Amino acid sequence: MVKGLENKTAIVTGGCRGIGKAIVERLAHDGAKVFAFDYVIPKPDEVFIEEIDIKGLVKCIQVDVTQDNSVNNAVQEVMNDTGRIDILINNAGITRDNLLMRMSETEWDSVLNTNLKGAFLCTKAVSRIMMNQRSGRIINMGSIVGSIGNAGQVNYSSSKAGLIGMTKSLAKELGSRNILVNLIAPGYVITPMTEKLTDEQKQLYINNIPLKRGALPKDIANAVAFFTSDDSAYITGQVMHVDGGLAI
Ligand code: NDP
Repeated sequence: MVKGLENKTAIVTGGCRGIGKAIVERLAHDGAKVFAFDYVIPKPDEVFIEEIDIKGLVKCIQVDVTQDNSVNNAVQEVMNDTGRIDILINNAGITRDNLLMRMSETEWDSVLNTNLKGAFLCTKAVSRIMMNQRSGRIINMGSIVGSIGNAGQVNYSSSKAGLIGMTKSLAKELGSRNILVNLIAPGYVITPMTEKLTDEQKQLYINNIPLKRGALPKDIANAVAFFTSDDSAYITGQVMHVDGGLAI
């Protein structure tokens, strides 16, 4: 079996469900010790990872990515455990959709705080560690709407567009320390986040996707695996759309 991430430590924010959970499973399959940072973590008796062979590689830590202290304490916990951090996946994200005229300041702030500030806080917390190691991979979870926009998602698309700027700036800032920063922009992925769309909205997406299906979380995890592997060692500051062609 091809592995490649043995002896590496990864953090995946929002790692307990949806796309984040698929990323956690994939990185553990590839041999990494993976820490899922999430707002709500599974109860001790809850089966989070079903596969026996990767169970021991995954640990959940309760974190609110919008809070500096919470992030720093969790990163310290990871360091106490493994003594290094090789991979950070800034995946935690929320939507609070509304038309601009109806959008409250709270809806704006909560989305920007989670999606953009959360990535800033987590990246800041691991950057010194990666700089000292002279290596690291940071992958931000964007969205196609960060590039093409979407009515009713001014807050969300702004946060995802902000992540593109953050990705490119960090790629320039951290490249000399061999820290690679890239962004994956999914289109429509079948997860708890998109469960709340109406059947009509889901069908409209599928009609507009050249591959004629929504992504599965593992489709996104496969792209993450590429950006954490040696195969992408000369790629930084890039935006990769993983959307079945939706944003073409
Ligand atoms: P989900 O809602 O299924 O999962 C998001 C995860 O992030 C949840 O586990 C949630 O925790 C966690 N989270 C939210 N706020 C915080 C916080 N403050 N601190 C820590 N964890 C938090 O979403 P998806 O899996 O669908 O999305 C994952 C990422 O992919 C997001 O960034 C999203 O914007 C992006 N994306 C998704 C698309 C889709 O179609 N699904 C399309 C394009 C991009 P909890 O459940 O405990 O609140």
